[in-house]
Amino acid sequence: MSTTEPSTGSSTRIRQVEAISNGTVVDHIPSAVTLKVAQLLTGSNDQVFVGMNLRSSRSARKGVVKIAGRELDARILSCLALIAPEATVSIIRDYGVVKKFAVPVPDRFEGVARCANPNCVTTHERWTTRFQVVSRQPLIVRCIYCERSFAGADLSLL
Ligand SMILES: [Zn+2]
Repeated sequence: MSTTEPSTGSSTRIRQVEAISNGTVVDHIPSAVTLKVAQLLTGSNDQVFVGMNLRSSRSARKGVVKIAGRELDARILSCLALIAPEATVSIIRDYGVVKKFAVPVPDRFEGVARCANPNCVTTHERWTTRFQVVSRQPLIVRCIYCERSFAGADLSLL
């Protein structure tokens, strides 16, 4: 029996999440923060595909988020580094990976997340929040104003 299905590459590997022709794939997201990442990456009219609790050779279970037609800007990458520092980013063009990199984790995060301390000056005044990285694995950051430390994944993004 013949088939008229369009070919999208020679790979016979079963895809766990729908393929995109152009855009960005964020892989190796810890399962617990997959939806948070999906929310971060959902722009105005972008098509976003989310895979949760997928099998992975590297970790027990992981999440994958794919965004069609968009590459990530510096601010989004900074947010991603805070909540999913172990994630990898692949840029897709014409169904192929043209660039793949680990999310760059900066030494400092500015204006990307709220301080979780309700008594912090940044929650009462319109100050730009600033967190210093104090540990990278796991990622722990310290608010430079109230000096409290938090796991990056626990902070609410702005
Ligand atoms: Zn604070």
